[in-house]
Amino acid sequence: MRLILLGAPGAGKGTQAEIISEKYNIPTISTGNIIRAALKNGTEMGLKAKSYIDAGELVPDEVVIGIIKERLAEPDCMGGFILDGFPRTIPQAEALDNMGITIDCALSIEVADSEIVKRMSGRRVCEKCGASYHTEFKKPEVDGVCNLCEGKLVIRKDDEPETVLNRLNVYHEQTEPLKSYYENQNKLLIVQGQQELKETTALVLKALSEI
Ligand code: ADP
Ligand code: ZN
Repeated sequence: MRLILLGAPGAGKGTQAEIISEKYNIPTISTGNIIRAALKNGTEMGLKAKSYIDAGELVPDEVVIGIIKERLAEPDCMGGFILDGFPRTIPQAEALDNMGITIDCALSIEVADSEIVKRMSGRRVCEKCGASYHTEFKKPEVDGVCNLCEGKLVIRKDDEPETVLNRLNVYHEQTEPLKSYYENQNKLLIVQGQQELKETTALVLKALSEI
């Protein structure tokens, strides 16, 4: 299965991606995680991306398109993949189409802005491995410590409240039009995000089982 996950920042794409990834045994490709890893390693791409990410802006199309092209060419993507956070603009979606890759479905997880703002304030990430947690909805076993690697859990700089509002604007302006883009290709599936993570997962898996 070749799947795109759409949805506002904080809609829970990453969490659902992990679950789908395990169930269908396909890798998740998260541009956000790839960019943050590059940033941490101090690569040239990471340095270029930093100011955009910190401001809640999108990294330029050509940068992310380059990243995805390389990543999708790796052998583990041959049997399918989940794209989490790509495409985020129409030019990115067109670039993907032009790579000759046929997507089975673009699944949009819908969550109201007010709910997003609430959720983002509780989001924490492991500074070592990037795993994500939530102070209310996805608590680690030990407060402030990553279950997977025992790294310290921190607030991402772009999860600060003002940046979140900007990211939401960017989402509505640049990413939401992708819903029509994929609807026109008859590939759009919509799932309403629920309070409970598990309930959203159930809806997501049901939608995927029907394609
Ligand atoms: P979230 O899904 O919570 O918004 P991500 O981890 O996917 O966060 O992305 C974090 C940041 O990385 C974005 O705000 C943006 O600056 C950058 N980024 C990630 N994916 C893309 C993309 N496809 N195009 C442009 N910028 C991106
Ligand atoms: Zn960790």
